[in-house]
Amino acid sequence: MVTGDERIMAESPRGSTDQAGATATDASSPEPFLRITEIFHSIQGESTWVGAPCTFVRLTGCPLRCVWCDTEYSFHGGERMTLAQVVERVQEIGCPVVEITGGEPLVHRNAFLLADQLLEDGFTVLVETSGAMDISPLDPRIHVIMDLKCPGSGESAKNRWENLEHLDGRDELKFVLADRTDYEWARGVIRERGLEARVREGSLRAILLSPVWDGLDRQELAEWILEDGLEVRFQTQLHKHIWDPQRKGV
Ligand code: SF4
Repeated sequence: MVTGDERIMAESPRGSTDQAGATATDASSPEPFLRITEIFHSIQGESTWVGAPCTFVRLTGCPLRCVWCDTEYSFHGGERMTLAQVVERVQEIGCPVVEITGGEPLVHRNAFLLADQLLEDGFTVLVETSGAMDISPLDPRIHVIMDLKCPGSGESAKNRWENLEHLDGRDELKFVLADRTDYEWARGVIRERGLEARVREGSLRAILLSPVWDGLDRQELAEWILEDGLEVRFQTQLHKHIWDPQRKGV
């Protein structure tokens, strides 16, 4: 469970100052901590980083409940670790690419401190987020992989649309699709908001369309993309092709 004292209040290098649901508490704490579900080394399964070895830091807790969520085990529990312990573990693994994920990592104020520390230590840092939290406090050197929740997730009302302004040429936007309705919704958002042009111009790195695992037929989705000439990237979750799709820690 994410508790109030783990939530965020941070500076805003990407341009805005507020944070939905944030509560300021132990900013001056001598030992910042995080609640961690798991830290593991694997192959990146999604995004334009797919296939790259990557260390994953999975923080505990998420305020959303997407109906198809595949990381429900991260909603509760976890181990309380100091920021220094988390960084030490990442350093022990030694992989140059690190993803901070969840759950929803950005409900933790100290996730921003962790990202900054990892950048300072020379790691390439990815942050995967639901799109329901303010991403503007993230350092612009971070590669953000942000969802826009489609209607089939049951959580599209939580999309924080102003986040789109804070994505830049390092960042990627992901739609997870449960059915044709989700596809048409995503296609509408992509076209109405000129997102393909942003990728062409370099103010957004990629638009990712991903079928819900064991949900939407992969071939159908591929054919819809081709028929519509969408300038997006089809993706599946590579790690679920490599390992048992139910397996944790990969
Ligand atoms: S935002 Fe991510 S972790 Fe949270 S419920 Fe949705 S899929 Fe699961």
